[in-house]
Amino acid sequence: MKALANAGAPHGTVVIANEQTKGRGRLGREWASTADKGIWMSVLLRPDIHPSRVQSITLAAAVAVCRAIEPVLAEKPGIKWPNDILVAGRKACGILTELSAEVEKVAWVIVGMGLNTHFKPDDFPEELRSKATSLSQHLVRGAVLDRTWLAAEILNQFEPVYEGFVRNGPEAMLAEWKERSVTLGKRVELIHGQETVPALALDVGEDGRLVVQLEDGSTREVFSGEISLRYE
Ligand code: ATP
Repeated sequence: MKALANAGAPHGTVVIANEQTKGRGRLGREWASTADKGIWMSVLLRPDIHPSRVQSITLAAAVAVCRAIEPVLAEKPGIKWPNDILVAGRKACGILTELSAEVEKVAWVIVGMGLNTHFKPDDFPEELRSKATSLSQHLVRGAVLDRTWLAAEILNQFEPVYEGFVRNGPEAMLAEWKERSVTLGKRVELIHGQETVPALALDVGEDGRLVVQLEDGSTREVFSGEISLRYE
């Protein structure tokens, strides 16, 4: 998708793969994107916003994925800051937003989504079995899990959330993100390299940063690129 973006592909270009051989998460981590088992999709955007606001698009995408998958699920999905969607406490989807920008102007944004749809527990690599899940394992009775329909539904849900964010600001999207968050109000551990710091997750800022309270009572803001969260 980066090659397409750099070659001038238009705003709204979508690439969907059946299999992804080099799926990535944050901080260079690998993302398992097995053939036939999920929706591996990237959306190219060229928003007229300041580069500092781009990470909020990750939050908008998480809201859209939740809206799309909720009707087929027996339990409500939740968003783990900044970019994971959990079902029954396990990760079913990850979202990664990358951008290319010059000083004040965004050239392109790529929102990558990996959504596990058809994995059976044994299909996951060994190390993921205790923390990953797939929509197929949580379907409401009678639901049909069709990847084409679901991919379209994610995009249909994303469009108004994204347009509202770009035109009117982040308030409405953030309110829904907070309502769907499973992070806010929880005790978490901030993991940065070898360092682990206990904290209370208080709020999320307009640009997607997480506001936490440390044990000494002070508050700190953390960015998605620097920290992983573990629940205590
Ligand atoms: P963590 O879940 O360890 O907190 P993170 O949110 O900090 O990870 P991400 O970039 O969101 O990091 O995701 C990468 C991590 O997600 C990988 O290190 C791996 O543990 C896990 N993972 C990889 N592929 C999948 C998948 N298909 N489904 C669920 N989880 C996956």
